[in-house]
Amino acid sequence: MYPMGQRNDVEFLWKCQMCYNAGMNDKDKELLRRTIEIAHEAMEKGNHPFGALLADKDGNILDEQGNAFTEGGSAYHAETLLLLRAAKKYSPEFLRECTLYSNFEPCCMCTGALYWTNVGRLVFGVTEKDLLKCTGDNEENPTFALSSREVAARGQKDIVIEGPTDDEELAAAILHDHIGFWK
Ligand SMILES: [Zn+2]
Repeated sequence: MYPMGQRNDVEFLWKCQMCYNAGMNDKDKELLRRTIEIAHEAMEKGNHPFGALLADKDGNILDEQGNAFTEGGSAYHAETLLLLRAAKKYSPEFLRECTLYSNFEPCCMCTGALYWTNVGRLVFGVTEKDLLKCTGDNEENPTFALSSREVAARGQKDIVIEGPTDDEELAAAILHDHIGFWK
């Protein structure tokens, strides 16, 4: 589960487990499906097929963001752009009750943005590990071998992380635009 070379003592693994929650509900899946559309729209504009949205505690969509590679290069990830914008608009107390949805597991930068903006919950569809298999060492997106749970477990906040989805059809839909995309 954890890449070679990462710290794997009992306490750390326990913290990673604490971040794990298999409670993805139907609303979560519905919102993940929306991230696939956002990702597809981003791809059609010449960006990478990643999409994210922020929802309040009742599942109402507050904001959406696709990858913006053509605007700012490899660092312009959907989740970080969305979260930094949300931090200007909402209080940390409000964001604590919100959920970030992303078609793929956020990288360490985006998980860091989640942590610092105080969003309390993350739902993703497909793991960073599986994304790495798609992107390989593509110079536009040299994916980390580092899970969001490992990043979150080293912080000081309890963040609920749901994912990957166990819905094979949903996972296949998320991966669809990535098959053959990373040359
Ligand atoms: Zn990222």
